[in-house]
Amino acid sequence: MTPSNETPASISVNGRTYAWPKQPLVVVCIDGSEPDYIEEAIAGGHMPFLAEKIKGGSDLRADCVVPSFTNPNNLSIVTGQPPAVHGISGNFFLDPDTGKEVMMNDPKFLRAETIFKAFHDAGAKVAIVTAKDKLRRLLGHGLDFTSGRAVSFSSEKANETTMADNGIEDAQAMVGRDIPDVYSAELSEFIFDAGVKLMESMRPDLMYLSTTDYIQHKHAPGTPVANAFYAMMDSYWAKLDAMGALLAMTADHGMNAKFGADNQPDVIYLQEVLDEMLGADAARVILPITDPYVVHHGALGSFATVYLSDGVDQASTMEKLSKYPGLANVYSKEEGCAEFQLPTDRLGDMIVVSDKHKVLGTSSDRHDLTQLKEPLRSHGGVSEQRVPLIITRHADVAADRHLRNFDIFDVALNHTA
Ligand code: ZN
Ligand code: ZN
Repeated sequence: MTPSNETPASISVNGRTYAWPKQPLVVVCIDGSEPDYIEEAIAGGHMPFLAEKIKGGSDLRADCVVPSFTNPNNLSIVTGQPPAVHGISGNFFLDPDTGKEVMMNDPKFLRAETIFKAFHDAGAKVAIVTAKDKLRRLLGHGLDFTSGRAVSFSSEKANETTMADNGIEDAQAMVGRDIPDVYSAELSEFIFDAGVKLMESMRPDLMYLSTTDYIQHKHAPGTPVANAFYAMMDSYWAKLDAMGALLAMTADHGMNAKFGADNQPDVIYLQEVLDEMLGADAARVILPITDPYVVHHGALGSFATVYLSDGVDQASTMEKLSKYPGLANVYSKEEGCAEFQLPTDRLGDMIVVSDKHKVLGTSSDRHDLTQLKEPLRSHGGVSEQRVPLIITRHADVAADRHLRNFDIFDVALNHTA
């Protein structure tokens, strides 16, 4: 019973074809990993494994999906397609079916199946470990956890896992660590420790490890805390490599400083701007960065969408907004969705992107900034689109190919020797 008799040579999903892995493939999504983080950590001697490995591997760059937020990009990476296909356009959106603003972390919003499900259905072993449980539900959607070939859990809730929901009883016992605070570097270290233990016990064909950007929101590239975080990851990657895994690393998005000379967040309160321009209740600003983890970013990012009431002159509103200082681009829904490959039924009438060092808010009374202990760093815009795409083996990729972070399974499975 050789694998070649049991498994297909390739799998097709969402219009793309992927070769069956010849060795375990570990894809790492480093949340908020602006390319400078790894470059600075390597330059400072903090990532000895990766520094050595990229000499024979491929140290590439790719563009992430805009809005440069966590959920749209994680779902793009694991489906191999942009949000226009998989449907997850933000962490948060205005559900047109209910008129309510809701988190977009329910699998019912997902419109494409994952690469994991397609491989798993064909007999592959799959393991997914995330920091936060909300993302885990989307990434593990459709897997049969009773098969004994699928494991998916978050470090946040590793003490609550069951065979039926996660494919593993008591993942915390397997890892042998305390459940970390949701605001900590240890929440991400737990993931890598779990990855090494799963590689020992289960040896999955595909493994996906997705961290949280708690560190990147607070610490710039090359600073001691950031370097220690990347050194931690490097040490686990070395272990996975030694166990015979191929590693591929990318990021869901980058990260930039978003504060002024006074160290306060440099915010454009877009709801206030539009209320002033159009009168009250003419426009409704939605911030797709919104999530329960306000300590990271105070719900301030560089991307917003705006719903306009009937009778509002959209063309003149866009004209005025496009001249507003600090706004990089103002698109109609159609223009913005075409530009960024987004689902038109899940965005408002206008899409607004701010400059590199500015963030967009609704109104000042709706953002609790008291939890921000360090000067704000955040993401969401085109300015956070550049991310690393690193493979620990040489990848044969055309020099003129415009790589996206959601090409990572293609590059790792189809373009390495
Ligand atoms: Zn993220
Ligand atoms: Zn973030």
